Amino acid sequence: MNTKNQLGINTICTHVGEIKDEQFKGAVSPLYMSTSYQFDNVDVKRYPRYFNTPNQEALCRKIAALEKTESALIFGSGMAAISTTLLAFLQKGDHVVLQETLYGGTYNFVVEEFQKLGIEYSFTNSLAIEDFQKAMKPNTKVIFIETPSNPLLKIVDMQAVANLAKAHNVITMIDNTFASPINQTPIDFGIDIMIHSATKYMGGHSDILAGAVAASESHIKQVWNLAKNLGGSLSDFTVWMLERSLKTMNLRVKRQSKNALKMAKYLEKHQHVARVYYPGLKSHENYVLAKSQMNYFGGMLSFELAEGIDAMTFQRNLSLIKPSMSLAGVESTMLSPTQTSHALLSGEEREKQGIKDGLIRFSVGIEETKDLIEDIEQALKKTIR
Ligand SMILES: *Cc1c(COP(=O)(O)O)cnc(C)c1O
Repeated sequence: MNTKNQLGINTICTHVGEIKDEQFKGAVSPLYMSTSYQFDNVDVKRYPRYFNTPNQEALCRKIAALEKTESALIFGSGMAAISTTLLAFLQKGDHVVLQETLYGGTYNFVVEEFQKLGIEYSFTNSLAIEDFQKAMKPNTKVIFIETPSNPLLKIVDMQAVANLAKAHNVITMIDNTFASPINQTPIDFGIDIMIHSATKYMGGHSDILAGAVAASESHIKQVWNLAKNLGGSLSDFTVWMLERSLKTMNLRVKRQSKNALKMAKYLEKHQHVARVYYPGLKSHENYVLAKSQMNYFGGMLSFELAEGIDAMTFQRNLSLIKPSMSLAGVESTMLSPTQTSHALLSGEEREKQGIKDGLIRFSVGIEETKDLIEDIEQALKKTIR
């Protein structure tokens, strides 16, 4: 039995995978920056691009424990993790089913690279399981999902997707970035491979670019076989930073999720807000499903201001909440998907996805919600007058 999975979540975050400092008895893992290790009398050839330096291996144990998997691998970015993992399980002539709304970088990777590799792909028409079913082909090898989705926080039924995949002998992958392992552990629902942009909640302080993959020993071996050739490993200094960040992940993400629920409820009642998208609100189309597969509902929400209030002017008038591209840091940020993350889509495509021009995506931080509310109130006042 795997004893580390019996530890409580904060203990896993703090301790699993730590390297004991035998030399000086320091409190934290020593950082080994060597790119060169003695080759005689050692059975492992250690090299950062082989993903097996002491710090890399230690951090992978922590991430595997968080996702309840046998093994894990860390990468130089979320996209390195996503691209390497997809390509590790797809070859010429294979087909992959991807959900309709995906992180922009993943979408671009698929539509810009797959054709020349001879890999076929289909995007589903909606997030309903029937549409996943319809997209399946005899040569389908992988189903790729991302839940909650960006920016409308729609929820995909993980159990249904896993069942469909198992019936067709197909591998399932999830981009679990938005939920983080704190809010959902997809392996509990039968998903095979969990992928993260560790740049987001795992890093949590907007100062680390990294990616992670967690899965069974044999699936990770298959990812590693390609990963060592593509070379997307993570530098040991950043590995060490990420280990430090993960110690507080549960504290941060739980607080961000509680804050987000409070902010969603506040915004939903607001006279100047037309609509709020948050899976923790009863008004959300997937509330029941979200409740069945998530612990908390996450720190991300989206909202539309009432008719006639300019979203960009409103965001410029904020003083505490930062208008910012990225997400998941301890500080609250907002952005307009039409101007940023989804700017490359046509107006028609955005409309199809339900992304209105006035939509604002809100990454809720750990601040006091009363201060966030005050900031929104003063910005609205300035915008409306
Ligand atoms: C940011 C992000 C990515 C890409 O990660 P990088 O670390 O920027 O490469 C992938 N998926 C989701 C959901 C993201 O938010």
